[in-house]
Amino acid sequence: GIDLESMGGGGRSLTGWRHMYSGKVREVYESETDADALLVVASNRVSAFDHILEPEIPGKGELLTTLSRWWFDQLDVPNHIREPEGWDAELPAEVAARSMRVAKLEMFPVECVVRGYLTGSGLKEYEATGTVCGVDLPEGLGDGDRLPEPIFTPAYKAPQGEHDENITFERVVELVGEEPAAALRDLSLHIFNLASERAATRGVILADTKFEFGVDPATGQITLADEVLTSDSSRYWDADLYSNAELPLSERLSSFDKQIVRNWLRENWDGEGTPPALPQETIERTVARYRELLERLAA
Ligand code: ATP
Ligand code: MG
Repeated sequence: GIDLESMGGGGRSLTGWRHMYSGKVREVYESETDADALLVVASNRVSAFDHILEPEIPGKGELLTTLSRWWFDQLDVPNHIREPEGWDAELPAEVAARSMRVAKLEMFPVECVVRGYLTGSGLKEYEATGTVCGVDLPEGLGDGDRLPEPIFTPAYKAPQGEHDENITFERVVELVGEEPAAALRDLSLHIFNLASERAATRGVILADTKFEFGVDPATGQITLADEVLTSDSSRYWDADLYSNAELPLSERLSSFDKQIVRNWLRENWDGEGTPPALPQETIERTVARYRELLERLAA
């Protein structure tokens, strides 16, 4: 095909695949031969505070794809991976390692967030209203506190460029219908419980995560899509640090994601204009953190 890289298109040309969509972090392609198939390629891009940062983080796309694939294998729900023998024969190995061949689903416009602990945007909403996405919570909870039980706190998946918006379960019912809404909630809680138990055996806390589901037109089944339980879609904490009351909260809740990047930006950027390029050392520590999570969970 045409070499888009040399045309400044970001290296998007892949034999057998037609580029369809660029997210902040992933590229989505349609198959030129199979109308039911998509290729989702995780880039090495890292985004923080709604900016895509420079330079890329070598290894990130592969590490997150490997983790996502591993989780799909652990879970007992239908997922979107469709990888017949030889599916990646035409792909450069470096791209294949960051790619998943998936069924093209009719996606629900809902981000299925589950929280086992209160922090981040959930904490903010709780402090303002005492609830998260319409779920009543006990009084007196603080940052990092474990919830009495995991809660389903969905968000409306806003069109590209807009912020996702937290919604109540009733709103999910309006958007997708009663039965699908209940299925999305029950599946999300089921997967969260399974994954948290699994992570706990490795000394890792799954604090919260986001799932996306769609319907497979071939089977009519609600199917788990997107990436799953990666450090881009989830907040993982180290259980030993979490339970060490001597440590400051920021260390107890230090997560396995791009927090190193966010911290560096906070200290080195006033938030105006284009963020400065990340130093090599920050990049290396970030990759090491992604790798550590994969090794802790999947080794
Ligand atoms: P953002 O840049 O905010 O992350 P985004 O979520 O649209 O936006 P990506 O996550 O990079 O960007 O892109 C992946 C896209 O592919 C998402 O829109 C996701 O909903 C969609 N997707 C994932 N799996 C499937 C599938 N099996 N069928 C159809 N669409 C899918
Ligand atoms: Mg996304």
